[in-house]
Amino acid sequence: MDITPYLRKIFRALGFRHWQTGRGTALRWRRLRFFLHKRGETTNNEGYMTFRCNVCSQLNEIHMSRLHRELPSCWNCGSTMRFRAIVHLLSEELLGAELLLPDFPKRPWRGVGLSDWEGYARPLAEKWQYTNTFYHCEPFLDITTIPPKMEGTLDFLIASDVFEHIAPPITVAFENARRLLKPGGLFILTVPYVREGRTQEHFPELFRYEIVEREGRPILNNITRDGRHQQFDELVFHGGEGVNLELRMFSEGDILDTLTAVGFTDIRIHHEPCYRHGIIWLEDRHLPFTARVPL
Ligand SMILES: [Zn+2]
Repeated sequence: MDITPYLRKIFRALGFRHWQTGRGTALRWRRLRFFLHKRGETTNNEGYMTFRCNVCSQLNEIHMSRLHRELPSCWNCGSTMRFRAIVHLLSEELLGAELLLPDFPKRPWRGVGLSDWEGYARPLAEKWQYTNTFYHCEPFLDITTIPPKMEGTLDFLIASDVFEHIAPPITVAFENARRLLKPGGLFILTVPYVREGRTQEHFPELFRYEIVEREGRPILNNITRDGRHQQFDELVFHGGEGVNLELRMFSEGDILDTLTAVGFTDIRIHHEPCYRHGIIWLEDRHLPFTARVPL
């Protein structure tokens, strides 16, 4: 049965006149705002929407301009859109339903996070056999040198905004992510990336390095594998100087190619919004990826 005429009717009734052609974006937003913003208030509320945080269940009202990948938008737990997207993907991919984290059923699934946000890591550890791990403190996990006994043991692995900070060659981290997972295991990956071109390695010869301060500015001193000394300034840090130095800017194509090359399958970029949980991607980059280990 072709449901297209019915869909067209529903969209037209809602005012989406050009639903198939992609035109009329402004109109769509106006209509969306109308349907999403809290009813019964004055028109000052134009542009506000309500969503239920899937990390803590809190109902929030927020101006849509505040919905950003990295800005806290739940007034209760401080979750960002990226954190809610990770919970959403765990729910959709592993449970096959759109559940709030407090409603996740208990499962014997084993999973690991690489420096995950504590806001969802703590409740997730109460539901499943999940461990949040760290590069610098207990419980340790260095994704570039994984313990052989951990190989093939995980049902899921989360690497959220971590891979841009791992020393090159980055392929090793992708390979080890696949090695840690069981057949059918789920990899959730987020990194900042650009749509076009190739991944830009800022320090391709990074080997033994330290960050020091000189005249109030951070400097990166590196000794390459063949013993040459290098020095870099113009460093970019993410949320915490000295710890989260940006080592590369990924490109979408290279992420897809590397996931494929190390043996992942069912690789997907998640553009789709989830209005209910306040996940609306207004940019077509920095989106979350999922990939599976073949069965
Ligand atoms: Zn919350």
